[in-house]
Amino acid sequence: MEIYNHPTFHMACQQFDLVADYLDIPAQDRDRLKYPKRSMAVALPIHCDDGTTKVFSGYRVQHHLTLGPTKGGLRFHPDVTMGEVAALAMWMSWKCALAGLPYGGAKGGITCDPRKMSIGELERLTRRYTQEMIPFIGPQIDVMAPDMGTNEQIMAWMMDTYSINMGHTVPSIVTGKPVNLGGSLGRRESTGRGLAYLVGRAMDVINLTPGTATAVVQGFGNVGSIAALSLQKFGVKIVGISDAFGGLYNPKGIDVWELEKFVAKEKTVVGFPGADPVTNEELLILPCDILVPAAMERQITEKNAAQIKCRILAEGANGPTTPEADAILAQREDIFIIPDILCNAGGVIVSYFEWVQDLQSFFWNESEVMDKLFRILEGAFTQTLNMSRKQNISMRFAALSLGIKRVHDAKKLRGLFP
Ligand code: NAD
Repeated sequence: MEIYNHPTFHMACQQFDLVADYLDIPAQDRDRLKYPKRSMAVALPIHCDDGTTKVFSGYRVQHHLTLGPTKGGLRFHPDVTMGEVAALAMWMSWKCALAGLPYGGAKGGITCDPRKMSIGELERLTRRYTQEMIPFIGPQIDVMAPDMGTNEQIMAWMMDTYSINMGHTVPSIVTGKPVNLGGSLGRRESTGRGLAYLVGRAMDVINLTPGTATAVVQGFGNVGSIAALSLQKFGVKIVGISDAFGGLYNPKGIDVWELEKFVAKEKTVVGFPGADPVTNEELLILPCDILVPAAMERQITEKNAAQIKCRILAEGANGPTTPEADAILAQREDIFIIPDILCNAGGVIVSYFEWVQDLQSFFWNESEVMDKLFRILEGAFTQTLNMSRKQNISMRFAALSLGIKRVHDAKKLRGLFP
């Protein structure tokens, strides 16, 4: 479909087609599984601080509605397009199904650079987007959450705008909200902590001990910073970290707590004392035991896949590895991959807990949240590892197969109406 024309959407389709062949999904069922159910594009005019009016483009893609409402993040980034959002929505579907959540996948985004906007402009843009989306969202229809460039404050404005329109407070319209507005304890940390838990499981599998292991993390936002802190707490030495402006390398280790304080002031990792500067390209090929891409999609490509020097590739970002790179990594038995739809599933799992708590108006403590999170991740990891070993397929192929098969089975059981 022309409206989704984008390299990331083609990549998601390519992955789907390979798995559909493997699962022997009949040709007549494939388009129904692959193409989004609903896609919205909206024009978002706002008053800017300089007195001008600017129109931004906003998108929301709801991939399938077979298992419940759709669920997925909202991204603010200059490169957002309908095709990119559609790919991310498709991956959310397989991710939710792999974790056994009662959701279809969705994703949204606004093409903008939040770093160049004032708080007032961001608020007006967020509220305008929410207003335009009201006919298409709801706690039982589509529930948004933070993603790249968005945060708890943006979720709070979305919840407020939706609630004002409904005439009563509706916390379950978004997840990843501040805790005192009905957010869940542990949601902010869930993706990074979930990633660190799964890295721990992968270390058991390949006999690596945290006390001697090193890690490199690309991206120092929500996912990358919490992943780095959690790995450091396990005893892993963090030797490389980057953000959109550049990277740092210190083979003796970078103190992530100190880096957090530095970034809170400087808004970038660049310039942090006690580490050498590296580019993002160099960072990805640094020697380490654990490599965590936690920024953008399509970072590990056919150009750098052969040069990557880690033992565990823990995909915090969505779609960081292209299928061409995957084919190269498949030849390398030295790398254990925790694929994105498993590795970063902690975020949507705790978002599900937040939605359940909001619907019941009954809130859990943090240890209950984490305990339930790790149980679901353990189940998904074990199923994926077992399938990968029994059927001699990669971890990515196993995870995608489990997710896609569950959605296909659900569609078959529901049938085609009318
Ligand atoms: P974020 O906006 O909080 O942080 C993104 C980080 O990546 C920032 O440090 C930014 O500077 C850096 N970055 C951006 N472009 C870069 C580049 N080209 N090279 C290096 N660094 C770059 O976003 P986030 O919420 O941490 O999301 C990161 C990734 O994780 C995205 O792929 C997102 O879809 C995925 N993800 C996020 C969550 C979540 O709960 N936030 C859940 C699942 C998956």
